[in-house]
Amino acid sequence: MNMNDLILKKREGGKLNKGEIEYFINGYVKGDIPDYQASAFLMAIFFKGMDKEETYLLTNAMRYSGDTIDLSSIKGIKVDKHSTGGVGDKTTLIVAPLAAAVGVPIAKMSGRGLGFTGGTVDKLESIKGFRTSLEPEAFLKQVNEIGISVIGQTAHITPADKKLYALRDVTSTVDNFSLIASSIMSKKLAAGSDAIVLDVKCGNGAFVENIEDAETLGEIMTKIGSSAGRNTVAVITDMSQPLGKAVGNSLEVIEAIETLKGNGPSDITELSLVLAGIMINMGGKADSKEEGKKLAKEVLESGKALRKLKLMIEAQGGKGEVIDDYGLLPTSKHQINLLAKKSGYVNSIEARKIGLASQHTGAGRSTKEENIDLSAGIQLNKKVGDKISKGDTLATLHGDNEIKLINALKEAEKAFYIKETKVETPELIKKIIGMTDE
Ligand code: URA
Repeated sequence: MNMNDLILKKREGGKLNKGEIEYFINGYVKGDIPDYQASAFLMAIFFKGMDKEETYLLTNAMRYSGDTIDLSSIKGIKVDKHSTGGVGDKTTLIVAPLAAAVGVPIAKMSGRGLGFTGGTVDKLESIKGFRTSLEPEAFLKQVNEIGISVIGQTAHITPADKKLYALRDVTSTVDNFSLIASSIMSKKLAAGSDAIVLDVKCGNGAFVENIEDAETLGEIMTKIGSSAGRNTVAVITDMSQPLGKAVGNSLEVIEAIETLKGNGPSDITELSLVLAGIMINMGGKADSKEEGKKLAKEVLESGKALRKLKLMIEAQGGKGEVIDDYGLLPTSKHQINLLAKKSGYVNSIEARKIGLASQHTGAGRSTKEENIDLSAGIQLNKKVGDKISKGDTLATLHGDNEIKLINALKEAEKAFYIKETKVETPELIKKIIGMTDE
């Protein structure tokens, strides 16, 4: 077998078999296949596509390209959750304690972020002392003892995806359904949970903008999950405006804690309850997603989920007092308000522009090596549908670097569309795919 023949086969629209896909993945990880051939191959896949079988084979080859996690020593049905990414998405910080508080074991690996803000791992690291890197034994022990742990993905999991994702990023081959689905699902399958809930974001702040594409992606990923014997559900959710009101790292941690105290914005509260409800159902603690949602609401209202988050923070080296003292989190040196230039109703807040503005504040990184300002970001004061008067504060931008904030303000200003007529809030949950009771 040689790589040139495989590139040619795919370029001509041929169907790749298991041996060929494994040859590519193993050879690329080992360094035997150079980037220029891998790039040409990715571009051929981009234009000619892969069918269901090829996509599954690619996922599996990547899944086994490095270590896989064995969670069998943890009792119960382990349920994982993944979001395809958006602006202000701090749901893991809320959903994981909600599901864990009802008794679903959460042994979760999350990523760092590139782009608008940090990822879940960066957000957690804004809690001083919080360890996002645990030895496998300590990780498993913690989940057995307190029912929850969220850590960063180790370097040895799916090395093929790490290398290929970096290459896709610089060769315009990211946005292909098979490549996205195999990238996400290889990591989720390697991470070992029994069931997976995928939050597929849809809108201008997400990878996929329209509902049809989000459904296609959700369907491909749920099929990969079920072919691998994992109960997998995809929830298509709105990302046309930012989720909740906080965009950043420590700002999002505060909003997550407030949500667990019952004071969260309605969209993030509702989405977290729906996702947790599905996880609780898949984890065997409720007979339906509705009953799961009810149980999630109970542990939110009783404070049990907040206590679960506190336990996790303390178990991983952070100060549990952060739950009541936000002064323990990084706080920005500067804040600038974005004021409304006219009265009316907020018709839209383009998530993508708020995301870019957030990145300008210093809350996100554009290369893996870049440091992020954990205190930086954007606190929205208004959401779509809100009535405003001229001079009202639409949002407050936070960060340590004033120049960056001034640049970010210009971007954030472009995100708000204010008109005389009121519009309805966009539908939050657009579709659920793969639920057995649907
Ligand atoms: N997220 C991933 O992990 N991989 C992709 O290819 C796209 C989004």
